[in-house]
Amino acid sequence: MEIAITCPQCGAEVDLAEEDTVFRCLYCGSTLKPTGRNRVQSFFISPRETAQKVGRALIHALKSKGPRELHISEHHLLYAPYWRVNGMIFQWLFGRRYFNTPNGDRSWEDLKKLRATPWVHTFPAFDASKWSLFSLGLRVQALKIWPFNRAKMGQDSLLLRQTISFKDAADHAKKSITKQAASASVQIEMAISELIGERYSLLYFPFYCFKLSNNGRKSMLIVDGLSHKVIKGEVNVDNLKSNTSGGNIPYRPMNFLPYCCPNCGWEFSFRPHTVIHFCKSCCSAWQEHGGRYVSVPYRISLDDNPIEKNKYLAFWRLSLVIKAPDREYGTVKEFYELFPLPRLLDQEALKDRKISFYIPAFRIRNAIIVDTFASRLTKMQPTFNESQPDSIEELDLSDVWLQLKEAKEMAHVLLYSMTKATHRRTKEVVKGAHLHITETRLLCLPFTERGIYLREVQTDLALQRNALDLD
Ligand SMILES: [Zn+2]
Ligand SMILES: [Zn+2]
Repeated sequence: MEIAITCPQCGAEVDLAEEDTVFRCLYCGSTLKPTGRNRVQSFFISPRETAQKVGRALIHALKSKGPRELHISEHHLLYAPYWRVNGMIFQWLFGRRYFNTPNGDRSWEDLKKLRATPWVHTFPAFDASKWSLFSLGLRVQALKIWPFNRAKMGQDSLLLRQTISFKDAADHAKKSITKQAASASVQIEMAISELIGERYSLLYFPFYCFKLSNNGRKSMLIVDGLSHKVIKGEVNVDNLKSNTSGGNIPYRPMNFLPYCCPNCGWEFSFRPHTVIHFCKSCCSAWQEHGGRYVSVPYRISLDDNPIEKNKYLAFWRLSLVIKAPDREYGTVKEFYELFPLPRLLDQEALKDRKISFYIPAFRIRNAIIVDTFASRLTKMQPTFNESQPDSIEELDLSDVWLQLKEAKEMAHVLLYSMTKATHRRTKEVVKGAHLHITETRLLCLPFTERGIYLREVQTDLALQRNALDLD
């Protein structure tokens, strides 16, 4: 979806891609940071054609079926709110897959499967029990949307009141993603589903309501404002007309911040896909939250002797305790009870170290490959030489796509990723475990390019370059 934005500097209308975090005006060149993109925002969609034109076509179609006296006595543009939720589903399934052996016996094997797919869902944010349009479907993906604006929507237009709260919507989404494809040959023992990078928007979708009159008999028709198809629905137009409270702007309107460091005033480099902006002048890092910039502490593991220019990829490192119902796993030594390494380690050195999970924060293209990498890196429990350098000007820092809040959800997915399908005891612990996060840090690790791979300098772990989405 493209968001039609009015440039606050010159007033021109410019499209902003839905995933973009920075706005640049094509006309006056100003670069600004739209606020609230990580919160719920409200938009509207414009109808196609005028009520008069749609009404004429409707009457024409109805008259061809008989009633000669039919005419439209009243028409209204009506907006109904729909929730739109999009993100990326990560779902781990553990269980048994049953199959027939060549000699006809029934047998099974351990199953471990990751599904990682983009997910988009729209559903009514109003009481839709008498409404037939339950989803806006895929067509909204290609539409242009406008920030909620009563004047632009038409002062006479009517609004259906939003009754499904954000919390209800989030519950609904959660329920939808945890559904597992049932299958006769698969038995699920444990599963986890997380929606990552999710964004909730309230879309006000247009309908036309026509009050029809035929020889004194009155009726009402509701027409989809884009497809112009008649839909089943009931609205009390008189009620909506007298009750204009639906016109309060739901949720925050979009505002703009200057696209520069709040500490030193240096303009950030133009990176429209990053949620965290590094200041190349004073080395601080910033994130927009609640309409202002908030400082983000970070560390960089510098490669002092680079063979060639490194690429620094961002990770969230979460220090945590794995809490199972009967015991806790808080040290690296205890971590290896769950996720043993083939080689021997110095047990003494491990018993004082805290467990760290490494969650990739850069943009990814192939979630499964990146998940495998994160799982291998975390199983190594490496320690890095890290600092906040005095100069980052020369460093090639990746965009940060994943917010800390989402990294925390991802940590649970990673716990499943590290669990072997055949490892019964670990599965039992993981199934009932929750993660108690004690410390978080954004950490940039150096990678060197080797053919189709990027290799992390210290651990030498390789990541296929095309699994990443780097600018
Ligand atoms: Zn402009
Ligand atoms: Zn600065």
